[in-house]
Amino acid sequence: MSVHRKQQVARAVVLLLIVAALAHILFQHLHEHPSTPPEKTWSVMGTLASVRVPEHAREQLPDIQALVAARFSAVNEHTSVYLPESDISRLNASTSPIPLAPLTETLLKRSARMTRRTDGLFDPTLLPLIQLWGFSGGSTPTAVPPPEAIAAAQRRMGHDHIIVDNGSAWRNHPDVTYDSGGIAKGFAVDLAYDAITHHYPQTSVLINLGGEIRVHGQATPDRPWRIGVQHPFEPGQTVGILSLESGQAVATSGHYERFFVLDGIRYAHIIDPTTGYPATGTAGVTVLCQNATEADVLSTAAFVGGIEKATALLSRFPDAHILIIPDAKPLQIYLSDKMRSRFAPAPPFRNSLHPFPNATVSTPYMKKDARTHTPQ
Ligand code: AMP
Ligand code: MG
Repeated sequence: MSVHRKQQVARAVVLLLIVAALAHILFQHLHEHPSTPPEKTWSVMGTLASVRVPEHAREQLPDIQALVAARFSAVNEHTSVYLPESDISRLNASTSPIPLAPLTETLLKRSARMTRRTDGLFDPTLLPLIQLWGFSGGSTPTAVPPPEAIAAAQRRMGHDHIIVDNGSAWRNHPDVTYDSGGIAKGFAVDLAYDAITHHYPQTSVLINLGGEIRVHGQATPDRPWRIGVQHPFEPGQTVGILSLESGQAVATSGHYERFFVLDGIRYAHIIDPTTGYPATGTAGVTVLCQNATEADVLSTAAFVGGIEKATALLSRFPDAHILIIPDAKPLQIYLSDKMRSRFAPAPPFRNSLHPFPNATVSTPYMKKDARTHTPQ
């Protein structure tokens, strides 16, 4: 082999070694920083749960997820209407006092308070209506129930018939039952949030349970956690982005989540307690609050009440920010004053933004109205 040829081979070998070294460094880097985001997802309470942390906190993710999952499971175990041994199922099956786990007592007390403060737009005693329409257990109905059956189900409502006192709860009416479905997810997120901020105060986290979200810290040192607001008419698209401050929560209620269409009318899974029919007029509601329980309840309440009653809700819940998309095309986005500073619309919707109109005066939620009846 000539000297020249030897030099060529030597150069090729050196080049190969350099390439191999670079490949090794790249492999090591990818191994230590895989391209998947630091997020864990699992199923619970009939929906998907997830926790996300910033890249630098990746190693803490398994412990954080375990803590969050334990809190979600505890709420499910004690409050699910689908588990016969839960506190709520036992409450619904008897009129005697049922001893409650502390978390169930807290949930029931907060729930009663939210029903009063939303003038009954949020009413967790509408379980007979949910069942009659066929929305229970994640199923979707196929027909509209007869009006007399709807009226009969409405007569089985009334949150005043659920009494909570000193670690126990009972029903003073045998037909009234409690449904945790409109509050339990938000409540579980708050419980998990409290545990995380107690055990990992320095770690940023995004906790998500079926779209009920609460954040701690920031996504990166210079960027807040951001949440896309779903386009109610175009699955997979967003109408804009919400930026969250540490501690804030977001909940969304949408007519696209669970519904059936009959004769051109869309019937969604959120029921108006005053009519007994699925609420109409709203396609999507997103609420930002200082905690997830309030956000969860208010998104359902504002979905039922629509823009005018949502405006009245804002006077009761001054910290709440509300975004409403009416069920009409072309898509329009109504933003409460505070929501405007948090929401960045996607470019096609920059000219579709509107302020909330003036509030209409709401009538107080009556204890003894047409829907509650005295025990026989
Ligand atoms: P969300 O999707 O968070 O708005 O919660 C909807 C769930 O809450 C439904 O699946 C029902 O279990 C329950 N729900 C429906 N309508 C109401 C209402 N007006 N008040 C309280 N809970 C409701
Ligand atoms: Mg809700």
